[in-house]
Amino acid sequence: MISFDQIHALIQNNNSFLITTHVNPDGDAIGSELALYHYLKRIGKEAAIFNCSQTPYNLEFLDPTGIISHFDKVKNSDIFDKFDVLVLLDLNHLSRIMELEEGFRKSTKLKICIDHHDEPENFSEYMFVDINYASTGEIIFELIEAGAPVKIDYQIALPLYIAIMTDTGSFRYERTTSATHIKAAKLLDAGVDPNTAASMIHDQGSPGRMRLLGRALDSIKLYYSNQLCTMALLRKDLTETGTVEADIEGFVNYTLSIKGVRAGLLFYELENGFKVSFRSVDNVQINKLAKEFNGGGHFYAAGTRISNAKLGDYYDTIIKAAEKYL
Ligand code: 5GP
Ligand code: MN
Repeated sequence: MISFDQIHALIQNNNSFLITTHVNPDGDAIGSELALYHYLKRIGKEAAIFNCSQTPYNLEFLDPTGIISHFDKVKNSDIFDKFDVLVLLDLNHLSRIMELEEGFRKSTKLKICIDHHDEPENFSEYMFVDINYASTGEIIFELIEAGAPVKIDYQIALPLYIAIMTDTGSFRYERTTSATHIKAAKLLDAGVDPNTAASMIHDQGSPGRMRLLGRALDSIKLYYSNQLCTMALLRKDLTETGTVEADIEGFVNYTLSIKGVRAGLLFYELENGFKVSFRSVDNVQINKLAKEFNGGGHFYAAGTRISNAKLGDYYDTIIKAAEKYL
């Protein structure tokens, strides 16, 4: 693994940086990208952000001036050669950047990966992957503090705070440490208002989102003496409630609200396939289950996307496979 000093040397020795993150980006993904972008600009570098997914509507407040571009395979095919360095944040498997994967793999430019997920794919010699961090945002925070003196002002502090807050489940997941809180405190000193930040994330949903949550809660099933809880949403649930994939964010956590549940799965149909979100507590290593189905993630939070397949053909198999981890 490379050090912060090595990353700063790479930054120093190069001029332009292309930043990207994973499909269906979350607060950590978007927040880390924007914080690093602003940092690079402050020290006089060129930078751009191109993502395979559109920014979810509930995170658009982080990017009021439209810095983030939605990658278009035809129009933006040149970006992999235009920048000196390609930077991947909050992921470590190239399949997670979808339409950007091919161009990224083919590019001969320097590639840096900064992330906090388990079992990275080894696609670059410049990988900073540390699973002890609760969020990629925390790594970016430390990286910025260790680099050329740049004031962490509101423009940098807000995306970092959102990254840290969302990936720690508002400072309650197991990797939350005093160091996490010290960083959060510094970000509050830089002007972030915790009340506004939490409200931007949690209190800006559409009425349809609440109706969709109702359907998700109604779909709950329990297995293995209530140790496993599942939820399922179908395409029609989204169309009938007028919602989009971003609206599902966070629902899976309700599976763990039931006494005795040690693992929770949320299944939802995609246009061409389906996605599963995996969550667990109490030493149940759920990323191993996700890995059985070509996914990955953290010890207690993982996911997978399966294309060209029907949810109904996999559901029973996944439930059955889950038993051995309980
Ligand atoms: P979520 O269920 O919130 O989408 O994802 C939970 C965790 O699993 C995240 O840390 C995310 O990075 C990881 N994850 C989600 N989907 C996938 C996937 O399709 N492949 C891999 N390798 N990891 C995923
Ligand atoms: Mn993350």
